[in-house]
Amino acid sequence: MRRILVLGSTGSIGVQALEVIDACPDLAACGLACGTRVDQMREQAAAHGVTHTACAAGGGTVAASDDLGDLIDAAQPDLVLNALVGAAGLQPTLAALERGLPVALANKETLVAGGEIVAAVRARTGADLIPVDSEHSAAFQLIATVPAERLRTVTLTASGGPFRGRKAADLAGVVAADALAHPTWTMGAKITIDSATLMNKGLEVIEAHHLFGVGYDRIEVVVHPQSVVHAMIRLDDGSVLAHLGPADMRVPIGFGLRWPDAPPARGEMPLVGRTLEFMEPDLDTFRCLALAWEAGRTGGTAPAVLNAANEVAVAAFLGGRIGFLDIAALVEAALERVSGGRGDELAAVLEADRLARDEVTIALAGVGA
Ligand code: MG
Repeated sequence: MRRILVLGSTGSIGVQALEVIDACPDLAACGLACGTRVDQMREQAAAHGVTHTACAAGGGTVAASDDLGDLIDAAQPDLVLNALVGAAGLQPTLAALERGLPVALANKETLVAGGEIVAAVRARTGADLIPVDSEHSAAFQLIATVPAERLRTVTLTASGGPFRGRKAADLAGVVAADALAHPTWTMGAKITIDSATLMNKGLEVIEAHHLFGVGYDRIEVVVHPQSVVHAMIRLDDGSVLAHLGPADMRVPIGFGLRWPDAPPARGEMPLVGRTLEFMEPDLDTFRCLALAWEAGRTGGTAPAVLNAANEVAVAAFLGGRIGFLDIAALVEAALERVSGGRGDELAAVLEADRLARDEVTIALAGVGA
């Protein structure tokens, strides 16, 4: 029996993870953590026979610390699934890895903000990190099939979101409800907005850099509206290996929870009649992707600033306080104003995160939003 601690149990990934755990007799939930929806988490705990819970807003059986270390110690998991939203996921990931526990990572912000810190902890403890992001789960599986020296580039696919093909002039007036209508994936609100701006793909580029140890020049993004191919790798002989699968997060979740054992079986994916298209992303319109690439190349605390500024800007957009195009503008301004620090020191990363949030909050107050 593999005991799993689910961090972010009431979010989209957390709920689907509990479904996967239910369907696998050799998996059991041993602990739950959530941000605010304590009633929903209590129902989950009762349904899954879980006694160790923590809620950031209070009301769990274990008081929620920043790193959730007490919950990890109480629940005694064999694996931690981190499906928290945002940079709040970084310290719990580190707490699990510090204890030598494998982490199935759905919280990409962990690696965006703290990729260098995560690498140092893993080097010390040998703890495994298994990506649950669909593209990275696919790339992880592809990369495992070839000798490292044959790998040329990692290609991530992007659906393009609800605004694919539009130009900046078309996007000035869009509101949260337009952006929340994602064409192929069902996800939480924050990541759905990130998919509409392509910031999600930008965060994933940085995530891929840290997960697979490839330079930014060896990561490629292609728009693929069908969301059937999740990742590809280019090899030294010019060939390309692709991973195809249904647009169903329970597939990468099942892979991550069971790894290195076989993932749970799921239904077949029909191939006949499918058309697969690949296009270049429009970096002029969807500037968040270009900003993320730039922040990744800058390194240090720049990706933490990018991510934190984006979190505050997305919340403001969801609250109807700013326009869609303001998200990229606010992120860009924060990157210009917050000075860089060391990306391998937790204190510097947390400080950069805080300064970026302050910067965007001040900018929002300035426009009366
Ligand atoms: Mg993804």
